[in-house]
Amino acid sequence: MAADEILVVGAGVVGASVAYHLALLGHERVTVLDARGPERLPGSTGLAPGFVGQLSVTPELAVLAKDSVATYLELSASAAEPPFRQVGCLEVATTEARLEQCYQDVEHGMALGVEAHVLDAASAVALAPALVDADQAVGGLHIPSDGAADPVALTGALVAAAERAGARFCWNTPVGALETECGRVTGVRTREDGAVVRAGRVVLATGIWGPVLAATAGVRLPMVSVQHPYLFTAERPELDDTPIDTPIVRYPDQSVYTRRHGRRYGLGSYAHPPLPMEPTSGLATAERPFRELDFGTALAEATGLVPAFRDAPLGRRLNGVFAMTPDELPLVGPAAGVPGLWFAEASWITHAAGVGRQLAGQLLGTGGTPVDPARLDPGRFDTWDERKVRETALGHYRSVYDAH
Ligand SMILES: Cc1cc2nc3c(=O)[nH]c(=O)nc-3n(C[C@H](O)[C@H](O)[C@H](O)COP(=O)(O)OP(=O)(O)OC[C@H]3O[C@@H](n4cnc5c(N)ncnc54)[C@H](O)[C@@H]3O)c2cc1C
Repeated sequence: MAADEILVVGAGVVGASVAYHLALLGHERVTVLDARGPERLPGSTGLAPGFVGQLSVTPELAVLAKDSVATYLELSASAAEPPFRQVGCLEVATTEARLEQCYQDVEHGMALGVEAHVLDAASAVALAPALVDADQAVGGLHIPSDGAADPVALTGALVAAAERAGARFCWNTPVGALETECGRVTGVRTREDGAVVRAGRVVLATGIWGPVLAATAGVRLPMVSVQHPYLFTAERPELDDTPIDTPIVRYPDQSVYTRRHGRRYGLGSYAHPPLPMEPTSGLATAERPFRELDFGTALAEATGLVPAFRDAPLGRRLNGVFAMTPDELPLVGPAAGVPGLWFAEASWITHAAGVGRQLAGQLLGTGGTPVDPARLDPGRFDTWDERKVRETALGHYRSVYDAH
């Protein structure tokens, strides 16, 4: 392979977005390697319910989310089954203090360029009667431009668009290690046949597996993997296959979020102690066995809160793993001291398209990056020890969706 070859490892939503933006900028030699096949997504992307929210306490996250929403809308405009729908988000206030906070969030949204409105209790319930507890809601914050993605379809749309723009995807190709020469990354070694694939630049977009591969070039990635529960109802007789227009509903004080998925409802809860885990190269998926002892109480409280879950027959429940960083910002940019190695790691679906644009602009030197590269520099925690990285990142677990 030529020196101008760019290898992207990982074709979850982030790797697909990186490839899409590199190809869109006219780079002709982009190859993506993934251990997965073209259909199934065993990584975090394939487990996520797909809430895309733009109001964030961190302005850079809002910028990346807005940029991503623009891309997701573009990809959806021509699709028969849009992978992203701008159904809005409703944050339910169950206390006067939260309702007061909603007014501040409107101001905060204005500063970020994200429109939001405060609703009274009746209007909040009317937006999503199955998901809003009329007895507890005292009002709500409505963010009409937020949305719901189908993460698998969205990743498929990014892969297809990247292929149309000239990127190449190689499936069923697990990478075992990075190849280095004199401290420079020169390609990767595939796990199964030990073949070396050469490239001038390698981008790791391997989600929770990032630290495993980065370590093969001596780089420590400052991210922590955490386990998170999500629960579906069984199919509901009152729901059909008409396109979803119900907003995503969040209960910020209870750390619960919920949405409709076709004929089912789903909910997730952050109201449990954070559960970190060590990803290993042997882990084939980002799904772990469900942990009743750790998640049971949080999910029981959540199902009591959301009307659609009360007395409803329940369906699949899962324990999915995703990555967090100490400041909640993703790790995007070059590896310090290891020329040729780049990262697009620890990003949410919410920010993935913005992250792809950011990485592509930096890597190709075309500029046009949505945020200041220094804010996402993968080396920004180099002076922190492992324990501080871990404890600080885990400290944000419960507030991960906070807007203010
Ligand atoms: C239960 C749950 C709920 C979530 N809810 C939301 C939500 O509502 N909104 C939101 O924005 N985010 C949500 N997230 C977070 C989001 O899903 C992830 O942050 C995001 O999908 C990460 O994407 P990724 O492409 O970086 O990683 P992944 O999707 O994990 O993709 C990584 C890819 O790398 C490949 N790979 C790994 N190692 C190798 C290797 N050695 N060789 C070759 N290929 C390799 C894997 O096969 C995989 O395809 C949730 C996550 C979970 C688990």
